[in-house]
Amino acid sequence: MSLKIRSTWKQVRQRLVRHPRATAALLLALVVGGGAGLAGLAPLPPVARPPLEVVFAEEPIVRVRLAEVPAGEELRLTLGTYWVTAGRESARLSMSRPWRWTGQDLEDGESRVFTLPLRVRRENSEPIPFDGHLYSGSLELVSRGRLLFVVNHVPMETYLEGVLEAEMGGRFHDAALSAQAVASRSYAANAIQTSRDAIFDVTNDQFSQVYRGLPRRRDRFQSAVGRTRGLVLAHGGKVLPGIFMSCCGGNTRPAGEAFGGPTPPPLAGTVCTFCAGANVATWKARCSARALASSLRLPSPPTEVLDLRQSESGRLIEVTLRVGANTKALTVKELRRAFGPLARSTWFTSLEFEGDTMVATGRGFGHGVGLCQHGTEAQARHHGRSPESILTHYFPGAVLASLWLPESP
Ligand SMILES: [Zn+2]
Repeated sequence: MSLKIRSTWKQVRQRLVRHPRATAALLLALVVGGGAGLAGLAPLPPVARPPLEVVFAEEPIVRVRLAEVPAGEELRLTLGTYWVTAGRESARLSMSRPWRWTGQDLEDGESRVFTLPLRVRRENSEPIPFDGHLYSGSLELVSRGRLLFVVNHVPMETYLEGVLEAEMGGRFHDAALSAQAVASRSYAANAIQTSRDAIFDVTNDQFSQVYRGLPRRRDRFQSAVGRTRGLVLAHGGKVLPGIFMSCCGGNTRPAGEAFGGPTPPPLAGTVCTFCAGANVATWKARCSARALASSLRLPSPPTEVLDLRQSESGRLIEVTLRVGANTKALTVKELRRAFGPLARSTWFTSLEFEGDTMVATGRGFGHGVGLCQHGTEAQARHHGRSPESILTHYFPGAVLASLWLPESP
């Protein structure tokens, strides 16, 4: 038997609606601040303008790119009995051998050949084992040139459980996990609404948010997501990207300074004294002048630091070194590449030569924008702060809003 499914691909579009005014009062009741909790607030008077101008009709689906498979490779996918859908055609089939991507079609090792794109889900909505992890929802297999993209289509709240496990982990306080859940939901929602890629909204790595499917122990992550169900950070009627990093080192920095482009007021940077005790709050890195010269292709090893140019928030932009009888200006990116992963941020507090070794010290871990995870943990655990007051601290001026229309009980 030979089964060849061919179809035209229809882009899945999620239903977005303009916010009905009737729900404005309910949503405004969720405005951050005033010491109120996330639930049980008294409704405020109706207002003309809800926090979000456009909301989803229901819990949205996040499209997460899990892998790009080159031609000739097998997929590390286990399905058992599964449903495959291509366009309007569906079939219930059984997988007994690994699938192989030829660069044009998917071969199932027996007699079937699938033409992409197609969607697979397991029977009874069981999680799908792929590449050592379990994924809820469905997997979309789409080609672009000779690359096969594996994309997980997963409901937002289930996706967030996996993000919390990968980005924070179970050792963090409940209030810290809740604050992270709102930030991560905002990040993903903003990505869904602004993604320019036709096949995925976010990647599963640090270029978006790390996601490895369902957590092995779901309880605490499920609770943190459930306590904040549907809530995102909003500013100016739009979802604010809930950017975060491991440790700011003393102050967060403007988004535009780190990534270019405009800086929304809630991402302008703030003082954070809370992460000072974290073991990643400071760092020290060394690099031999000879290795520096070789990695940067300099004519001879540098011998002296002549000048440092810093941003307003204190991050290093450029350094000028003496190289022989000349000078050489290096961007902070080039410098960090030479130092390797021990230079954990662009916040250099000193840079000098000790003999023929260049020694740098610095503060923080990560890009320095938005929510500081170690500061969040300290605020929750040592200062008893609520998720709302933590979010207000790192995103001043943002409000909390529901991302989708109220659900019937
Ligand atoms: Zn901090």
